Amino acid sequence: ESKEKDKFEGTWRLFKLAVPLHEDPGKDSLHVSDALLQQIARVLKFPVASMLPAEAFTVVRKSFDARKKLKEPKFVHTVDMDVQKLISLEPRCWDFISRLEPKVGLVERVHDERDFSDLESIFRECKENKEAVLAGGNGHSTFSTELCKNQATRKPKIAVVGSGPSGLFAALVLAQLGADVTLIERGQPVERRGRDIGALIVRRILELESNFCFGEGGAGTWSDGKLVTRIGRNSGSVLAIMKTLVQFGAPEQILIDGKPHLGTDKLVPLLRNFRQHLQDLGVTIKFGTRVDDLVIKDGHVLGVMVSESADKSRLTSKKMEYDAVILAVGHSARDTYEVLHAHNVELIPKDFAVGLRIEHPQELINNIQYAELASEVCHGRGKIPVADYKVANYIDNEDFYEVSNSGVANRSCYSFCMCPGGQVVLTSTSPSEICVNGMSFSRRASKWANAALVVTVTTKDFEALNYFGPLAGVKFQREFEQRAAMMGGGNFVVPVQTVTDFLENKLSVTSVPPSSYRLGVKAANLHQLFPMHITEALKHSLVTFEEELPGFICNEALLHGVETRTSSPIQIPRNIDSYESTSVKGLYPVGEGAGYAGGIISAAVDGMHAGFAVAKRFSLFHGDV
Ligand code: FAD
Repeated sequence: ESKEKDKFEGTWRLFKLAVPLHEDPGKDSLHVSDALLQQIARVLKFPVASMLPAEAFTVVRKSFDARKKLKEPKFVHTVDMDVQKLISLEPRCWDFISRLEPKVGLVERVHDERDFSDLESIFRECKENKEAVLAGGNGHSTFSTELCKNQATRKPKIAVVGSGPSGLFAALVLAQLGADVTLIERGQPVERRGRDIGALIVRRILELESNFCFGEGGAGTWSDGKLVTRIGRNSGSVLAIMKTLVQFGAPEQILIDGKPHLGTDKLVPLLRNFRQHLQDLGVTIKFGTRVDDLVIKDGHVLGVMVSESADKSRLTSKKMEYDAVILAVGHSARDTYEVLHAHNVELIPKDFAVGLRIEHPQELINNIQYAELASEVCHGRGKIPVADYKVANYIDNEDFYEVSNSGVANRSCYSFCMCPGGQVVLTSTSPSEICVNGMSFSRRASKWANAALVVTVTTKDFEALNYFGPLAGVKFQREFEQRAAMMGGGNFVVPVQTVTDFLENKLSVTSVPPSSYRLGVKAANLHQLFPMHITEALKHSLVTFEEELPGFICNEALLHGVETRTSSPIQIPRNIDSYESTSVKGLYPVGEGAGYAGGIISAAVDGMHAGFAVAKRFSLFHGDV
């Protein structure tokens, strides 16, 4: 029997445990409710649910499912079952466990491989090993005498440029593993950045170095703080990031929510805690300091030239020497791209997407998604989450066979960065350009729902406008941002058009519905913004989105121009394992700006991996990540 028991020992994961909405105890309860125990009992074929000890189960995911074909909306759970604990608390379970059959996607055994998600224990282990080696003891095999020599001479000096998610996590890993880290950020700490953003919204003062894109926390700080990612929600790396965010103050709920999000009000204190932790680890943080140039000799980076961000002339630029430079500058650091280009660092133009931001009343989206249940949404306070949506349309040749040469076909149009209960914000980094995005607070309680509707573009599109070379995509973005600024008439006023007028190609003169955008909107014909094929792709897709979400096309739906910074327009090639640039030694391009991430979580994961790769390069870490 003991052999049999070994077979079932450890953790088992039970999927798709559905609890009807009315039986769910409330969204803040992570505990295993009686209703959930009923579902677990059903899977185990255990006759009396109330006899199952709740302590043996842990909820690892909880998602709301309100698809229209369901009789009743439900919360769908994934639950981990600790078999040993279960049997010790309720031995009568053994008979049922021993009959459990694994089924992919329903009942799976969780394998106990060393999990990268446990970042804390990696750091602890490294520290203990390092101390053991330095004390002359029998250190762990992963730490060699090389480390000793290295440590005896001096710690490697690493510059991390940019304090967005990728830079923060690279700095964290390197500091934990013993490097001498300086974090250089052109923008301001969150407290001052908040005031600068306030001045932008209230007095139309755009601080060039402290705004929605630049400053502590990077582009995603004044955002919706969605923590969803396409890089594998259950991967160890993603869990490591999530757990670290919880350590710095994010609610534990994010570890479980099917669609976790934080909101600006939660992100700001979290970043303050993150900063404090880095400083406690000895990281030097330089805010208001911009990297103006790289110091490169014989193909090796030797350091950076920095100046105070306030110094527009860059005359005060001074040299700082480093053993390695991690470049985590995000996709709006266009001046930094030019510096790289001037040094012949290889840059490859990358496909991305451009379009418009659509805004609806949130109530309308709740009605579309939840029908009669919409009245129970309670502005983010109730059990039912404020409704979101995600739409996508691939335009193939058949849709546009008669104009297949016009360039409409073979593109995708999709919603992006949807912010339920949010507001449209200005993400320009120059007063002569307009680009927008969306943010929200944790409760998502505003009366607006916005999302980008964007169409994929490639180098062919850049070339059609006579933009060539590695920075063609940046020039392409800037072209539409400047056009949008002109159409708005200046002063950060955003050009808008109702969806119905956009479909009919006419100016929304009589009644422009209200917008959440605080700096003013002006009616314009957005057909004059993009080349015809992008406009056509948007129009065609809007019609298909209406089929999926009836009511999506309506007079209250307002399109805002322009959404251009969906992801990086370039990629900076790097070696797969070492993360080092293929053109300059000692330079480590990471995160969204380098073309390796597309959101808060993926940027953080990339920064974390780069941190380990650089630590490995300097023999601070010998493990596998
Ligand atoms: P960034 O976050 O862009 O950070 C780069 C940092 O480098 C900045 O702080 C910048 O000031 C600094 N920097 C740049 N150049 C220099 C220089 N020369 N010297 C010194 N410092 C420099 N993603 C999501 O996943 N969920 C969301 O809900 C979401 N909402 C968003 C809302 C808004 C308004 C915006 C703008 C973005 C949003 N994003 C969201 C995208 C997300 O913010 C980015 O994908 C992510 O921040 C990229 O991280 P990063 O570290 O690569 O770069």
